[in-house]
Parts: sequence; structure tokens; C-alpha cells
Amino acid sequence: MCGIAGVWNVQDAFSVLHDLLLGLQHRGQESAGIVLNNFRVLKGRGLVEQVLTEENWLESERGIGHVRYSTAGSLEEIQPLVAFTKKGKIAIAHNGTIPDAEAWIRSLQERGAVFQSTLDSEIFLHLISMSSGDEKEAIVEALKRVKAAYSLVVLHEGFLAAARDPYGIRPLFYGKYRGGFVVASEDSALKAIGVEEIKEVPRGSVVFFEEGEEVVEFEKREERFCSFEFIYFARPDSSFLGENVHKARCKMGEELFAENPIEADLVIPVLDSGLSGALGFSRASGIPLDVGLMRNRYMGRSFIMPVNREKIVKKKLVPIGDVIKGKRVVVIDDSIVRGTTMSIIVNILREAGAKEVHVGIHSPPVRYPCYYGIDTARKQELVASEKDVEEVKRLVNADSLFYLSLEGLKRAIGRSELCVACFNGEYPHLK
Ligand code: SF4
Repeated sequence: MCGIAGVWNVQDAFSVLHDLLLGLQHRGQESAGIVLNNFRVLKGRGLVEQVLTEENWLESERGIGHVRYSTAGSLEEIQPLVAFTKKGKIAIAHNGTIPDAEAWIRSLQERGAVFQSTLDSEIFLHLISMSSGDEKEAIVEALKRVKAAYSLVVLHEGFLAAARDPYGIRPLFYGKYRGGFVVASEDSALKAIGVEEIKEVPRGSVVFFEEGEEVVEFEKREERFCSFEFIYFARPDSSFLGENVHKARCKMGEELFAENPIEADLVIPVLDSGLSGALGFSRASGIPLDVGLMRNRYMGRSFIMPVNREKIVKKKLVPIGDVIKGKRVVVIDDSIVRGTTMSIIVNILREAGAKEVHVGIHSPPVRYPCYYGIDTARKQELVASEKDVEEVKRLVNADSLFYLSLEGLKRAIGRSELCVACFNGEYPHLK
């Protein structure tokens, strides 16, 4: 998963991009990069604060930016990408993954394209360069050809463009700001800098920003926004499709208890993304919520760090024995992917003196990989792909294990037009 941002005709675009990307930092911590007016590029590994420093400040009014966690390409390949195309100089930043990227790259290479990276995002640059018409028509032409999954910002000398794929799998928002426009993956990042009127880039559409905004719809398919953004990925203060993420997660917890009533002494969240769900579970059940596991704030998110997951989890979750000892605890988390994190958590709680450890997950079992930009793991690594609930329960060493149903998830989010392919294997782009 990645976060993208754009700024058009706003004084000190560097600082605005810095603030927007900081608000999207949870979407990627491996690298940060920006491209400013005249296509000046600033990129580096690490967090926004480490790359976009005061010493690197540049005067600017326009630019795009990207924070990255990799699902394609190597760590060295940091976005945004810049290219000299037939349509002039263009920079792009991409959130999402193109599932049929290999086929695209082969077919473009057969037509003479020379790829500078292994990033699927580069496909857009070649398609734009090869398309007919003026610069904007070429962008629309290129977008029509790729069906999933992308949210994109494109910087051209004469305009900024923001686009979402025909299913609207990945999020993208924009608004007016200090006489110009700003774009970001989540509305919370825009709210944080003071944008008041925020609009969603409609799915299957591109918004061009020049003096004003021009929305061009290129292809609309059935809505399939990623349900995992609600479950785990997005910030709790973000909203998608008009639904607040924190409230949706609370409802997932409530639904989880309604489907799985259980007796226990304590509800413990796996911080941070399990917190809202645990709150909902506690409210619905009447079982008190407490912090039984503290999180070391100085560690990254284990799910999105590409290396050393087990080591990181052990270091980052610290039990509070005085809270847990002798209690029947229900630990609530957003999902189980490989099962390694949860078995470590259950063992930490047992070692801290828990009498019973029950595990509640406020999403259905993840049985299928994601091809749209969330690195949930390959199928053979997904613990629920081959094992049933009882087997996973034994593997993680819990007294009981229960998940939210797919219907419960949709009820909690308040929408049914979602991508739920990692739960049911029904991939929108294959239908
Ligand atoms: S497969 Fe899962 S993680 Fe991927 S886009 Fe669909 S819901 Fe989101």
C-alpha cells in the first residue's frame, strides 16, 4: 500500500506536500519522494521527516508526492517516476497494483518500450506516451486501458491530474486550498491541513486541475472499494463512501459479538488497528476494555514492514501483567494473515498470566491474496487458505477463535458494493 498527494498552484508546495505525506505516513514507511515545479526530484528511503527536511526545502507551487510500502518493484525504486514522453515531461505517483502487469510490460516491450524500473506504475508512462491526442486525451486514453487497481496523481507542466480506476478500489480525495488545489489518498490528510470542502475523485474518472477543476469520466464499472481500507489500513479519522473508518470498525466489533456471544472478564485490543473493533465489542458485550498489551510507539507496523516480522512483533508488544493475570481475556484484532503475529500475542498473554485467551477477529478469514496493492501475502502463506477455523485456533494456541462473517462486515461498513476478494476469491477485474 502507498499514499499519494498532489499540490497545484499553492504557495510553498514543498511544505504542503510534506504535511500531506505526513498525514499518509501510515500507508508506507519505506520511502518518501516528491517532484516539484520544473520536475525537481527529491527522494529517499525512510520516513517523510527524514527525507523532506528543512535543509532540502525548495521554493515551489506545484508538485506530487508518494510514501511507499512495496508490493511491486525493488526498494531502490522510489516514486514519483519522471519521464520525457511524447506528450512532454510527466511525473506520476501510483497507489495500487496492476494485476496483469507482466502481460502489459511484455506487450509494451514488444512495441519497443524500454522500462527504466520494475515498477508496474511505469506502464502508465509508456501508455500515455504512446497514446494519440493532446496530453490530456493521452492520459484519458491510457487510463481507459488499465482496469485495476490504481489511484494516480500525474504532474504535467500545464496541469495536475488525479485519477481512480473504474472500480474505485483505491481511495483519492481533493479540495480547494489557498487559491489552488490539493489531492491526497485519505480525506484525513486534507482535513489536517485545513481543507474544508473535500470531494472524492469519482471512480473511473480523472480530475484535471488548471485554473479550475475538470472531471472527465472515462469508464465506470460496479463499485468495489477495498474493504481492507476500512478493516485495517486507513486512519480511523478517515472516511470513505461517506462512512467513518473508526465508526465502521466499532460496528465490526459490535457485529462480532452479536455473532459470537462469549463470556470473559476483559477485552484487550491489539493496538492500534484492533482498538476501534475492541471498543465496539466491549460496548456490545458489556465486558470491560483494558490495555493489556502496550505498543512500543517507536516500532513500525509489522504488517507492512517487508522484513523481520516476528522479531518486530516480539519487540513491539509488551504485556501489562497486573491487568491480565488470572483473567479470561478476549483479544481483538482486525485480521489474521499468516498467523505468526497472533500466535506470538496469545503466548505473550499466557506468559503474562491470562487464565483463558480467546481471539476475536473483526473481519472474515483472509483466504485469498490481494492483487490490488495490499501485501496480504501469497496464497500458500495465508493461514486460512488451507486451514479451517479450528485448525487456526490450535495453531495460534487460543482457547477459542472466532471471525466476523462477510455479511457482518458489510453490515458494519454499511455498504455491500465492496471488494472482498481476499475473503471470497471473487476478483472484480476477472468478472
Ligand atoms: S483483495 Fe482484499 S485487500 Fe485487496 S483490494 Fe480487495 S478487499 Fe482490498
